[in-house]
Amino acid sequence: MKAFIHKNKDLKNIIRETAEIAGYLWQRGWAERNASNISVNITDVYQPEISEYSTFPFYGLQVSYSKLAGNLFFVTGTGKRMRDLTRKPMKNALILKLNDNASGYWIISQKMDGENFLPTSELPTHLGIHQMIAERESMEKVVMHTHAHDLVTLTHAKQFCDEDVLNKLLWSMHPETVIFVPKGVGFVPYRLPGSIEIATETIKSLQNHDVAMWEKHGVFAIGKSVADTFDLIDILAKSAKIYFLCRSADFVPESFTDGQLAELRKLADNF
Ligand SMILES: [Zn+2]
Repeated sequence: MKAFIHKNKDLKNIIRETAEIAGYLWQRGWAERNASNISVNITDVYQPEISEYSTFPFYGLQVSYSKLAGNLFFVTGTGKRMRDLTRKPMKNALILKLNDNASGYWIISQKMDGENFLPTSELPTHLGIHQMIAERESMEKVVMHTHAHDLVTLTHAKQFCDEDVLNKLLWSMHPETVIFVPKGVGFVPYRLPGSIEIATETIKSLQNHDVAMWEKHGVFAIGKSVADTFDLIDILAKSAKIYFLCRSADFVPESFTDGQLAELRKLADNF
């Protein structure tokens, strides 16, 4: 591990928390093979001197993210497994610093002559979301993508591929869902993973929600910490699970009435 990480308690805590949560993603069955990716904006936590990174390899970006100029990110590596990240975070994730016009980045956490690797192939979507967060000046630092299968399963039925229907269902399965996920989920119709189209649709969706569900694929979520972001997905997955348990026990769940939901919503507003 690089010396600057050792010396920085806040950075070490972010890495430790990400490693812990990566293990939960794997245990939940949401991170098969190299599925799932996480990025954390660590600009407030660490700013290196130019002499510390200017000789490191530089990688160009296809799009410039002007609001992220000079920002630093802790990002999971491409092709890396969450279960490995739990044990060896710095061999499966990296730290990158964007240049001053945000047209590319240096990877500052790897050795010049070591076994180097690149950030997740979903980096453009992650940076696009971080840019949207910077533009609106909100407090989220984390972007997380995972294959929460209970939520994915819902999007295989056309009847649930609708934001209003999805939110009514998820909020109606457990009282805490509307309290902890008051903005509900956004729905992103199927697009090719890694495409500009899916990134654009996801960013649009996350302007109004903290979680966007990708049809037949997974979820993207944003939050202030890695644990908070995981919790959002976990709560929604619990609701979906309760729905499927009812259906597999061969009955249709009664769900909350509109009146009960309104009562819970009031509680959420005061939370
Ligand atoms: Zn995926």
